This record gives sequence, C-alpha cells and structure tokens, in this order.
Amino acid sequence: MELFKEFIFEAAHRLPHVPAGHKCGRLHGHSFKVGIHIRGAIDPHTGWVRDFSEIKAIFRPLYDQLDHNYLNEIPGLENPTSEVLAQWIWQRLKPGLPELYKVRIHETCTSGCEYRGDAETP
Ligand SMILES: [Zn+2]
Repeated sequence: MELFKEFIFEAAHRLPHVPAGHKCGRLHGHSFKVGIHIRGAIDPHTGWVRDFSEIKAIFRPLYDQLDHNYLNEIPGLENPTSEVLAQWIWQRLKPGLPELYKVRIHETCTSGCEYRGDAETP
C-alpha cells in the first residue's frame, strides 16, 4: 500500500545558475506543494499503514524551516530547484521515516518533480 500526505508552504527563491535574463533568476515566490509518500503493509488491527498525524509531526520541523522563508538562505538549498528541494527533504525525512518511498514537489500547478532516493540515501 502506498500512502501519501501533502503539505503546502509559501516561500521565495531565485535560481542562481540559470542563464542571464532567465525569469527564474529573479526573486519570486511559489506555493510549493510537497507530497510525502510512504509504502508499507496495512496493519490488520488499525487498518492503516501509518497514522497521517505521525507523518505530519515528522515533517513539521522541515515545514517550519521552509514556510515563509527565502529558500536560498537555508543550508543545502543555495540552488533551490524543485529537484534539489526534493532531495533535501528526502535526506532529512528518511532517517525518521524509513518507509519513505517518494517525495513529490509541485512548484507550480503544472510543474514539479518526484524523487525516490538514491544509493547515498537508501
Ligand atoms: Zn521558481
């Protein structure tokens, strides 16, 4: 079973490595949507994989760092693309949420990325 919990946070960023004149090089903001996906078996007694409120509690410290902040100033997010943000979240969530399967980022309604980990963060 795959379970997901979504969060929305508001933040500003700019992308420092885009070509001169690229609109993403200018300071701007997004309502980022983050999907935290976990995989596991359904507990036969509770009938769920994990309590959604536990996922919320585990994500909370990251949410507090991200929401209404300038992402470029956060260590590890100096180049805050959706891809880098997905990896940043994965690396910080995985130790406390071993069932983590996927981090999904929506930067706009129509653009985003999905990250399923890599060899460095099994
Ligand atoms: Zn942007």
